[in-house]
Amino acid sequence: MDKSQGRISRPDAGPTAEIVTASGHRGLQIEELLIFEQGVPGRSGVDLPEPPKVKDRLNGMRRQGGIGLPGLSEPQVMRHFTRLSQKNYAIDSGLYPLGSCTMKHNPRLNEKMARLPGLADIHPLQPVKTVQGALALMHQLAHWLKTLTGMPAVALTPGAGAHGEFCGMIAIRAALDARGQQARRRVLVPESAHGTNPATAASLGFEVDSIPADARGRVDVAAFKAKLGPDVAALMLTNPNTCGLFEPDIVEIAQALHDAGGYFYCDGANFNAIAGRVRPADLGIDAMHINLHKTFSTPHGGGGPGSGPVVFSEALAPYVPLPYVVHGKDGFRLVETRESGAEPFGRLKTFHGQMGMFVRALTYMLSHGSDGIRQASEDAVLNANYLLARLKDVMTPAFEGPCMHECLFDDRFLKDSGVSTLDFAKALIDEGFHPMTMYFPLVVHGALLVEPTESETKAALDEFVASLRSLAARAKAGEAAAFHAAPRLTPRRRLDETRAARQPVLRWKPSGTSRQAAE
Ligand SMILES: *Cc1c(COP(=O)(O)O)cnc(C)c1O
Repeated sequence: MDKSQGRISRPDAGPTAEIVTASGHRGLQIEELLIFEQGVPGRSGVDLPEPPKVKDRLNGMRRQGGIGLPGLSEPQVMRHFTRLSQKNYAIDSGLYPLGSCTMKHNPRLNEKMARLPGLADIHPLQPVKTVQGALALMHQLAHWLKTLTGMPAVALTPGAGAHGEFCGMIAIRAALDARGQQARRRVLVPESAHGTNPATAASLGFEVDSIPADARGRVDVAAFKAKLGPDVAALMLTNPNTCGLFEPDIVEIAQALHDAGGYFYCDGANFNAIAGRVRPADLGIDAMHINLHKTFSTPHGGGGPGSGPVVFSEALAPYVPLPYVVHGKDGFRLVETRESGAEPFGRLKTFHGQMGMFVRALTYMLSHGSDGIRQASEDAVLNANYLLARLKDVMTPAFEGPCMHECLFDDRFLKDSGVSTLDFAKALIDEGFHPMTMYFPLVVHGALLVEPTESETKAALDEFVASLRSLAARAKAGEAAAFHAAPRLTPRRRLDETRAARQPVLRWKPSGTSRQAAE
């Protein structure tokens, strides 16, 4: 990178490089320097009085030099962060079809409720009497989650889906230990599973045993049954699965598992396809996490912390971790220690979970109502099937038949084109869309997993379809070179993502650190 005149010019900027600007900016796309590169020693946005002379009580341990903060004026700081924010892609700026992530609209009403001072300005260590409303809110959220899933118990504390898996699998281990069945240490996981499933099982000391998928993209029931035995602790199954397909044999699977003495953990990350339509309890599930940040519209990705409550069946209910909210004659209280009839396995978090997310999720539930939640699921499935129907003649659906809330393609439609799934996704960025999930699930080659969610209009879906159809046609027409050069219209082109992940440059040092960045 050439930084003459303090600007970064990019000689490899591709076909749009023919437009050369004196500033290095491209329209309103500003080439923003790092804040440290803009800083000037001594400049400041505030005018503080000289500190009073005080007697040194630190035994001479005084700081000798500055701490290296960049010197900028207030307008410089404002512009810097505003410009950076404009480089972000977010659900608020466009379609975000990232399969398995349920990037739906986060209603503004949720935010308004979460900012109410009575909810936003409380502290977890406040006396219980002073936070009765907040505890009532948690209790009501628990009620909704139990009602929607048909399950008798819930742990609200897990901090995200993977943490919920961890919670559910510890409860399963505790139940097995209570039965004296420490020998049950094998966990069956379909090969289409999200990576967190085997990771959770392995991190708890279970042995992971993978179950193959059949030609329909579902669990191979015969292969599953053949794996059952006296050492099986649990099955971890996602439904709808990560191919976007409902597992139609789930009741039979649950029955066989229970007959063999195992517990049924369901990864509920895809609950947005079935919420209000199917109660997981009726499918024979013993524990399931719910990603509030997916199904119930609380922000995620860069937008906020996750929240992954876990619902439990009667068999696992005694092991629900502390703390939990109960309602008695003196109002609501948090149970913080073991009480009779319960065998909590311990705690997962210092306090009681992501309160701000509880507020947002309950706001979503109450504003939609049970009929609205069912409608959202139906619309999510309808939108995904609309995309599937509009694309199946130019892209290759991985499996036959309709899908649930997301549609899965493989890369057969790119065969012999010289264009990979990655190239295709990068070209989609130039079209103004966030790419779909790529190369997951692993059961199909070069996967492209598209989840539109219910909050997109038909017009937005049609625009997306038009771009995908055009890209598919261009790939087939032999424009591989253009795909390899994509994205061309972004502030940065293809990053060495592996290097960025393995050797992140997280600290600015005065001499040329930015040159080492991964481009
Ligand atoms: C998102 C997801 C998870 C993990 O949830 P986090 O909240 O990201 O920890 C697990 N399984 C599936 C199928 C998912 O889509």
